[in-house]
Amino acid sequence: MFPALFSQPYVVALFYSFFTLLAFAFYFIFADMSYCAYICPISAIRNAFSRDSFMWLGSYESACRTCTTFECAKACEFDQSPFNFDKNNSMGDCTLCMDCANSCAAISYKAKGSGFSLLKPIRKARNVDVWTYLLLFAFMTLTLKFTAVWNHAPGGEMLPWMWLTHGFSQAYPRSPVRFEALFTLLFSVGITLLLAGVGFRMAARTLKADRSRIFREVGYAYAPLALIASLGVAGESFFTRYFHSVINGFIEAFHLPCHFIAPLATPQTPWLHIFVFFDYLAVGWTLFLLWKRVTLFAPEKSVSKHLVTTLWLSMLPVFYLGLTFFA
Ligand code: SF4
Ligand code: SF4
Repeated sequence: MFPALFSQPYVVALFYSFFTLLAFAFYFIFADMSYCAYICPISAIRNAFSRDSFMWLGSYESACRTCTTFECAKACEFDQSPFNFDKNNSMGDCTLCMDCANSCAAISYKAKGSGFSLLKPIRKARNVDVWTYLLLFAFMTLTLKFTAVWNHAPGGEMLPWMWLTHGFSQAYPRSPVRFEALFTLLFSVGITLLLAGVGFRMAARTLKADRSRIFREVGYAYAPLALIASLGVAGESFFTRYFHSVINGFIEAFHLPCHFIAPLATPQTPWLHIFVFFDYLAVGWTLFLLWKRVTLFAPEKSVSKHLVTTLWLSMLPVFYLGLTFFA
């Protein structure tokens, strides 16, 4: 993925040292954990994942209604108001540190159905959450899918990004850039943005609504596609590409007296297909959520408009389903 320069330990050490120092600098420049809230991308990814969580932090409304101290908010270093989480159907930038729970017994932390918050309107819906889902899908799920299943399948060299990879590898044989990873990634991002972009544009036309509002409020439906499908692809990649690479890396790095090991599976290994379950689950759940969130977004529109809008927005999951079928 990265230039070969990043394979060298001291470059990686410098890379992380730089960002650690930067983190310290931001910590002192900005108060109240603003590095975590506004700079660190992990925060956006954590918030995205929390939508599929089984657990939910909220508060007992009967106690909060008469509260005058708001100890929970005072205890929160992240400037959150947990008494509003249920009302907003959003846990904001909560890190689940539980400081608020130590300050007041009215904080609740309950198991709920996974992704239950996606079935309800989300007050203060945020573009950044939807962008996180789309980019996670593009960078992780789709890129891994192409790499693990498609790039080296029979005829894979005819895929446009592999065709470019061959061309550039021949033209620049000494380049430290790994062209296959680069072009697979660029095409994954391009395809994702194209299908999602056309879907939102056509949805806005169908509903005669503001495109950015549809993006922000309906786009949460792509959460399972980004989060659940990635589990299946990551599982496949672990057995076909990464497990033996990690073990062999240790053997090589520490001169262990062992033979290098072969991959645990190939893309053709029959039992590897159990991971396809995650793909079907993710696509099915995304299609259901698209329908649900479209009807929540425009309840006054007819069923046929809901259906057409859902179909336009389904291009991305249906494309992914096609990849899974023909893999
Ligand atoms: S959780 Fe406790 S401190 Fe916070 S608003 Fe409710 S009663 Fe008040
Ligand atoms: S769990 Fe931590 S971050 Fe979340 S609201 Fe409570 S104190 Fe704030």
